[in-house]
Amino acid sequence: MTLVMHIPKSHPRYQSLITREKLVEGFKLGVTAIQGLIAHGRGETFDYILGERSHDFALKAEKAAVAEMLLAKHPVVSVNGNVAVLVPKEVKKLADLTNAKIEINVFHWSKERVEKIKSYLEKFGIEALASQDAVLEGLESARRIVDSRGIYIADVVLVPLEDGDRCEILRKHGKKVIAIDLNPLSRTSQMADYSIVDNVIRAIPNMIEFAEELKNLEREELKTIVDNYNNKEILKNAILAIRDHLTKMAESI
Ligand code: ATP
Ligand code: MG
Repeated sequence: MTLVMHIPKSHPRYQSLITREKLVEGFKLGVTAIQGLIAHGRGETFDYILGERSHDFALKAEKAAVAEMLLAKHPVVSVNGNVAVLVPKEVKKLADLTNAKIEINVFHWSKERVEKIKSYLEKFGIEALASQDAVLEGLESARRIVDSRGIYIADVVLVPLEDGDRCEILRKHGKKVIAIDLNPLSRTSQMADYSIVDNVIRAIPNMIEFAEELKNLEREELKTIVDNYNNKEILKNAILAIRDHLTKMAESI
């Protein structure tokens, strides 16, 4: 992807500006939905008030989520138009390390956009599932249409930037849901089994590191990590981290 705007590395908001540019280019390519730009804006706000770093609660959730993926029979990483342009290489690496399939699943559906995401991912060596031949009962949005070899039979689904409704349905279908969502108050974060409150551009690279560290562990050791994980505590800490960060900021004025 070639970015139109030149952003000097020295710019204090370099990373944030580059990320925005990637999404704008993704939109021009027909990969990212226009609504995806709004969703990103909401994410950025939460990142700002979290101090734009991976907190301990995020790292704990990322580690336990990777352990859950390594224990899974059919782990699947669900990719939408934002994730496709932000972290394609990283998604491939994480899927390779955890033996997960990659499936395209979008909220704002069109056959054309799914095809565009598919060919975009192919440039990164990703053979994404997108046959959309199965339906998750109980859901009205296009997100219900899934692949019979992927999310339909998955036991663990990693859903970066998920919608609250589908998160709930995936759980009702007995799947373990790992969400990456910067908003700890969203229904997605509240519903997930693993709520990773972190930017997807940091979360997936962190998860790659954990996968490299954990992949040779015995199943029993992975189970211990999963059993000791408490998502409610993680969510609580994420909300309190916002309060603490804001208090610090206020005091420094
Ligand atoms: P919900 O449906 O779960 O109640 P919502 O309707 O507010 O949430 P959606 O538009 O459904 O939000 O999903 C987008 C979510 O993705 C937002 O909660 C936003 O914070 C999050 N998000 C956007 N960009 C990123 C990013 N780069 N990294 C992590 N999270 C992000
Ligand atoms: Mg929503």
